[in-house]
Amino acid sequence: MNSEDFADSGALICGSVYLLVGRGECYACKRSTRLFAFMALPPFELVGDQDEAMDDEGSLLKEVVDMPASLRSVVAQVTNGKWREDFSRTADQTYWMNHCEWCDAKQGDFFVQGADGPFWPYSEEGLAAIEATKIEGPHTFAAAETTYSGAMADWRDRRHGVVRPPVKPRRSAKRK
Ligand SMILES: [Zn+2]
Repeated sequence: MNSEDFADSGALICGSVYLLVGRGECYACKRSTRLFAFMALPPFELVGDQDEAMDDEGSLLKEVVDMPASLRSVVAQVTNGKWREDFSRTADQTYWMNHCEWCDAKQGDFFVQGADGPFWPYSEEGLAAIEATKIEGPHTFAAAETTYSGAMADWRDRRHGVVRPPVKPRRSAKRK
């Protein structure tokens, strides 16, 4: 597909993605279900009217309206059809939404990527629980939107072996 095709809607072209798999509690049946998201990975190319601020090293994509053809078969396989197009009243649009593995209830990105969801890890257990498969691209997301997640930046650093120095506590006075 020619990148000029997206001049009107805008598009994000990313070199590869992580297909992230986490677990959350279905709000409807309260059972633990797998939940999915993409982290876009560089190099990035922004086409047309696509001015979304990107984290240089990778950002979560939210409310994917147009699943790239390059990802459809792997998404269908890995998610067993539980990540598919559906209408969200919260977002007032149709996008690729998670569905509960048990009762098929919609799990909107507002929840899945929010502070109570699996992609906002705040503990060792939370960081370790996220599985990821890298899928080489390039992948073209029309009218892409990204979401802020500082916690997932920590996860990404850990995955790539980036070690940041611990913050030393300040001492105002020496004790003797
Ligand atoms: Zn459920």
